Amino acid sequence: MTGRELARAGHRVTILEARDRIGGRIWELPESEFGYRAEGGAEFIHGDAPVTKTLIADAGLTLLQGRRDGERLDMRGGTVSDRDDDAPGFELLPEKLAALKHDLPIAQFLDRNFTGEQFAALRRSIIRMTEGYDAADPNRASTFALREEWLGGGLRQSSRVAEGYGAIMKFLAAEIRKHGGAIRFNVEVKSVEGATVRCADGTTITGDRILNTVPLPVLHDIDFGGAFVPKLAAADAIGYGDVIKILFGFKTMFWKSAHGRDMSHLSFLLSDEFVPTWWTQYPRPHTVLTGWFAGPRAAKSTLSEAELIERGLDAVSRIFATDARPHLTAARAIHWGRDPFARGAYSYATPESHDAQDELSKPLGTLYYAGEALYRGADMGTVEAALANGKDTAARILAA
Ligand SMILES: Cc1cc2nc3c(=O)[nH]c(=O)nc-3n(C[C@H](O)[C@H](O)[C@H](O)COP(=O)(O)OP(=O)(O)OC[C@H]3O[C@@H](n4cnc5c(N)ncnc54)[C@H](O)[C@@H]3O)c2cc1C
Repeated sequence: MTGRELARAGHRVTILEARDRIGGRIWELPESEFGYRAEGGAEFIHGDAPVTKTLIADAGLTLLQGRRDGERLDMRGGTVSDRDDDAPGFELLPEKLAALKHDLPIAQFLDRNFTGEQFAALRRSIIRMTEGYDAADPNRASTFALREEWLGGGLRQSSRVAEGYGAIMKFLAAEIRKHGGAIRFNVEVKSVEGATVRCADGTTITGDRILNTVPLPVLHDIDFGGAFVPKLAAADAIGYGDVIKILFGFKTMFWKSAHGRDMSHLSFLLSDEFVPTWWTQYPRPHTVLTGWFAGPRAAKSTLSEAELIERGLDAVSRIFATDARPHLTAARAIHWGRDPFARGAYSYATPESHDAQDELSKPLGTLYYAGEALYRGADMGTVEAALANGKDTAARILAA
């Protein structure tokens, strides 16, 4: 996004990308695998996402509304029920959140305000949400951020790009090239000294300004010199969670009449399986189930892709009380924490993250840093966060 803005403003832009593809944590899987451009990384558009929606319109792409329109089921404890997020005590949550004067980790907030057996389900539900949705550690995640998300309605809307997030990335890449910019692939940056970048293959490149956009933990893998040390400490003060995303393609929607009920409108389900969260592509007809597990539990997993696929198939078979294996046509299990150029999935706010964002946003000479982790709005850790922060950073570079 920054590259597009700078190239459009007449500057010469060169992007150095370690992978052999664009997108980073947006990863478009080939259509031949799942029958459509399935998402190995980011998939949903959360909240209002004005920058993303403008790009979708500019690129002539289609916004698909309505992940929340389908049926959302709770399939825990061997029973199937319509999802009901409101555990006893939920009605007290807005008041307790609103009364909070100082930020603190969510686990501490729950311990202080919702002790006792009567709130056990509420505590479990919030911890589950923090770990599962924000990929966050409840012992670090900011309660103020939870307040903003929940009281601000950030979780209420969610949509998709019909052509996939990858189409937005292709549009930006084409724009950069159209304005004379270049994207070099398989170029891993190893160090930055002054305005010179040194790459793993020994080549160097010098520019007037350097913009670094690697994910937070990857900052530790690049030598930025001694003056960057306070920035590394700031990066560590922001949370960064892990996600394992599993995709299964099936010959048919074999789950459609599981448990003797019509599940053809199923969009999302929560279970107590090892891979607890699953969603369909509803309202699109693709016969794909996506499994998700996130947060500290995902970070600890040492399972291989084949083992994760097996665990996922066990979970799906138990959830729908049918052996899923004979229906399977394609499978992927992507553990983002093991990806050397991502080292996890996305950032989350901690009580220290605002100060840390201030520190990281300050350029060090000609070196700038941008990315989803520096976004100040409610939907940190998202594609919108990355795009909006990229756009702001371009404006700051142009102003300087
Ligand atoms: C599984 C998963 C699901 C997600 N789901 C959603 C979702 O539904 N909705 C949503 O909005 N967001 C979602 N996200 C988050 C979203 O993908 C990210 O917040 C966003 O894409 C980050 O963009 P970025 O430009 O900041 O970082 P990145 O996309 O990580 O870009 C950084 C780039 O730097 C490159 N790089 C790293 N190291 C080097 C190096 N040494 N040299 C050169 N290049 C390097 C990387 O290859 C990468 O291309 C999800 C993320 C994951 C992993």
